[in-house]
Amino acid sequence: MADEVTTTPIVLWLRRDLRLGDNPAMLAAVRQARERGATLLPVHVWEPRSRRAWAPGGAARWWLWRSLASLDDDLRRLGSRLLVERGDPAEVVAALARQAAAPAVVWSAGLDPDETVDDGALRSALAAADIEAVVIPQANLLAAPLATRTRDGRPYSVFTPFWRARLAAGAPDEPLPAPAALPPAPDPPPGLGLAAFEAEAAPPWSAGFGEVWRPGERGAHVLLESFLSGPLAHYATDRDRPDLDGSSQLSPHLHWGELTARQVWHAVEGTLSEAGLDLEAAIRPPNWDEEQAPGLRRSSGAVLRQLGWREFAHHLLAAFPHTPAEPLHERFAAFPWRDDPAALEAWRRGRTGFPVVDAAMRQLWTSGWMHNRARLLAGSFLVKDLLLPWQEGAAWFWDTLVDADLANNTLGWQWVAGCGADAAPYFRVFNPVTQGRRFDPDGAYVRRWVPELAGLDTRHLHAPWLAPAEALADAGVTLGETYPEPIVEHGEARLRALAAYEAVRTR
Ligand SMILES: Cc1cc2nc3c(=O)[nH]c(=O)nc-3n(C[C@H](O)[C@H](O)[C@H](O)COP(=O)(O)OP(=O)(O)OC[C@H]3O[C@@H](n4cnc5c(N)ncnc54)[C@H](O)[C@@H]3O)c2cc1C
Repeated sequence: MADEVTTTPIVLWLRRDLRLGDNPAMLAAVRQARERGATLLPVHVWEPRSRRAWAPGGAARWWLWRSLASLDDDLRRLGSRLLVERGDPAEVVAALARQAAAPAVVWSAGLDPDETVDDGALRSALAAADIEAVVIPQANLLAAPLATRTRDGRPYSVFTPFWRARLAAGAPDEPLPAPAALPPAPDPPPGLGLAAFEAEAAPPWSAGFGEVWRPGERGAHVLLESFLSGPLAHYATDRDRPDLDGSSQLSPHLHWGELTARQVWHAVEGTLSEAGLDLEAAIRPPNWDEEQAPGLRRSSGAVLRQLGWREFAHHLLAAFPHTPAEPLHERFAAFPWRDDPAALEAWRRGRTGFPVVDAAMRQLWTSGWMHNRARLLAGSFLVKDLLLPWQEGAAWFWDTLVDADLANNTLGWQWVAGCGADAAPYFRVFNPVTQGRRFDPDGAYVRRWVPELAGLDTRHLHAPWLAPAEALADAGVTLGETYPEPIVEHGEARLRALAAYEAVRTR
């Protein structure tokens, strides 16, 4: 190890791994800096929205800015700081390394197709400048996206065999510790401060986000701990209920890499073992679904299985990089979607007249997040009841979700539309009334997000147009004035959707 610290830095490019703990790229950069007696320059490149279709959307930028601020605080506690620059990440990082005469740039390999392209561009630019590129495998998936393949070497297109194969490959590695201290940043560090991006991180609808979320690594661990000590025990039964806080809500933290999937995995395993239970028995199908299994074991298997869906989504995106914009199954490219801007706007604003769909869309708008069951119902309503393209839904989610994630969003939307891998059968058209009654039985979800219906008796809450005039009057509801009439008749819409799907199916 070199004794003297020079001002020449090792550049550490932090893209979506905004954490100190379990961060192999950070540990590798620290090691390089110590060995060479160099400083360490951690940098994030803030991308202009116009740079590419899947640059972070409005709500995601709200999150990202705060996550970067939190990371900067954490880096400062260890004697470093975060540099934030603007532009094309590969160009900016390469220019920075050249100007600082850095011997090496260290980063975690990209996950999304665009990120992989950026990786290639940065490698080339660094090679041309004779700077070493140290690309560390991603730690934010349990395994590399394409590490698991079928026997004949193809990607999986069905979840259960994929997950079975992943589990057979063994438990993920133990998470790595955070560095105890960091080499200093070069003095004075060049570049823009985070304040330069604050205006871009405040979309007009984000005023309420701060009441719900605490972006950053510390917030992620607080949330994980409270999930493990509370909702986890009932996750298997409560996770499908949007009226209960039954799921972890860790999705934005996982997306931004403030927490890794293997940290969640090992934390769940730790909770099980404290209760004297065995992870093995929780994860092997069909045990995860055993009705008679102890609640905690079954619930642990269920939450790890959701991490499995996340792995599957990344597997599919890596294997089929065109799917964020195009259906996996080609015959759906000719699907007879409608063009109806008024209906699309009603859906976006939560004014369809179907309470559970409207609650879902308003939860999204107000909090930047939507419960999984609600995503399924709102998504199904868009593509089946309204017969509007799933890509419109994916684009709206991309702009309004704090957890907007290209792999998960693509999988979710193609699942709902029935055009992706292991997707919902086309003939399954969710009925928003019966689904509302089933998953929001007391109406708490609708009352919370659609307050103009709050006074309506639960019997009528999910179908106010069927309520007797007296019940509506007692609740202060005037359909078409205080709350919309349904914008479609579900029975007719269902038949229209089935006919459209049938036409494509038989092509
Ligand atoms: C139309 C549609 C769009 C979606 N868009 C996104 C998105 O942009 N970003 C996103 O993270 N998830 C998306 N999902 C998946 C899922 O709805 C969310 O991951 C989940 O609601 C997050 O809540 P949670 O953290 O409480 O999940 P939990 O139930 O606590 O699950 C733990 C973690 O597992 C992962 N996970 C859970 N369910 C899924 C799933 N079905 N697919 C992939 N990963 C999953 C998430 O990382 C989640 O944080 C979408 C689903 C649908 C149907």
